[in-house]
Amino acid sequence: MTSHAIDRADIADLRTRVRGAVHRPSDDGYETIGFNVAVSRRPWAVVDAADAADIAAVMTFAGDNGMTVAVHSTGHGAIPIDGRSLLVRTGGLDTLEIDPAGRTARVGAGVRWQRVLDESAPHGLAPLCGSAPSVGVIGFLTGGGIGPLVRTVGSSSDHVRSFEVVTGAGRVVRASPDENAELFWGLRGGKATLGLVTEAVIDLLPIPELYAGAMYFDGADAPAVLREWRTWSASLPVEANTSVALLRLPELPTVPPVLAGRMTVAVRYAALTSRDEAQRLFAPIRAVAPPLLDAVGTMPYAAIGAIHADPADPMPVAEDGCLLRELPEEAVDAILASAGPDVESPLLMVELRLLGGRFARTPQVDSALCHRSAPLHLYTVGILAPPIAEQVPVAVAGLVETMSAYSDGYRLPNFTATSDAGVTARCYDEQTRAWLRALAGQYDPRGVLRVGQLAR
Ligand SMILES: Cc1cc2nc3c(=O)[nH]c(=O)nc-3n(C[C@H](O)[C@H](O)[C@H](O)COP(=O)(O)OP(=O)(O)OC[C@H]3O[C@@H](n4cnc5c(N)ncnc54)[C@H](O)[C@@H]3O)c2cc1C
Repeated sequence: MTSHAIDRADIADLRTRVRGAVHRPSDDGYETIGFNVAVSRRPWAVVDAADAADIAAVMTFAGDNGMTVAVHSTGHGAIPIDGRSLLVRTGGLDTLEIDPAGRTARVGAGVRWQRVLDESAPHGLAPLCGSAPSVGVIGFLTGGGIGPLVRTVGSSSDHVRSFEVVTGAGRVVRASPDENAELFWGLRGGKATLGLVTEAVIDLLPIPELYAGAMYFDGADAPAVLREWRTWSASLPVEANTSVALLRLPELPTVPPVLAGRMTVAVRYAALTSRDEAQRLFAPIRAVAPPLLDAVGTMPYAAIGAIHADPADPMPVAEDGCLLRELPEEAVDAILASAGPDVESPLLMVELRLLGGRFARTPQVDSALCHRSAPLHLYTVGILAPPIAEQVPVAVAGLVETMSAYSDGYRLPNFTATSDAGVTARCYDEQTRAWLRALAGQYDPRGVLRVGQLAR
């Protein structure tokens, strides 16, 4: 269908088809502020979905009018959207039911992790969120989901029991290992390629507290910390998880003064062992250099966001990342040459996350999440604000290019927020890509979900 079809699209018709509010660009309520405010989002209209039937109606309207459908929960993984798309906002789908006996949570598409953490905690139960509890549950899970305990528990998407989903064809169906199993496979890792999830039932694990946190060092100690982290992390058992980040945090009220306006390096750690064993395992890092801040200890699981202490407020960022196949000494030298203490770098953060452990094992129920054998993930981000705004994208691209010597070019869907289908294709191996394409032909025959998650 051509753009002529879009020109003839009738907003009054759309409004009669849905219960939720519909906003055109001139309407109050159209602007959609997400976490990354640098991403341009000018859809033909925004629909605040009231229920699954609304999303089904949007799929049909889009198909009838030659449009595509994108989704916004929190904007943590926002992709550019133009006037050929409808944007579904899921904030109204705010169901959250904890089943303490069954150790599950039923979570609506508008719910963020912190709410699930807070409502699970009184039962001593833990949802497997990522580093930032302000991220949306469903967007995280459809991208696979790599949390601070990824080595111990595997991908968070392996702990989904079922989804309710509106397919691109506008059908509301359930997907689980026993029902629409292929759809269930594709929704875990395939993001919004096959449908928009309206709710998920997820596992809650009995983890009331854990030994975890971050230890911050002066930037001058980054070479020693990074070199120690490289060998130390490679020897950790599956119960221990870690990442390391070179940080240049701005002076903001939310940043502890000892870490603001200077270069620091943080070693993040989370262990599901006894306290003694967790401390013993962490001892080599404690011995590297005197810390600026030692925030590693026993914490309630609901405070898990403190490990990474990611920012929660919207900001304009440029980001990129890739999976690494190895981290030889030269790779550490390359990171230090790009963003170490001896250079001026506009990058807010350069992060290495240790994968492996249970993440690398074949899950009980297969999914479209690929490249599980990669041992590490590299991620870098910078704030697009003067006076460094122009340098940031160059530095982000430059670091990823430098590290491509240690990467097979593979990526994780959750760290690939782009509408460049050539780039998102690298999230999948060839067979998975072919299966996702075939399933998309079945579940989204009119291609309304073709907004860049998957090259078809
Ligand atoms: C500060 C920060 C920390 C992060 N930490 C981690 C981390 O530790 N581990 C990790 O794995 N990822 C992490 N991410 C990435 C994050 O998980 C992804 O960007 C995720 O897609 C965000 O989902 P959202 O719904 O919050 O964002 P949105 O921007 O609202 O959605 C992003 C995408 O998620 C998909 N999506 C959202 N809602 C639905 C739905 N209802 N049905 C189907 N698909 C949907 C769509 O593809 C959509 O384009 C982090 C991101 C940020 C900004």
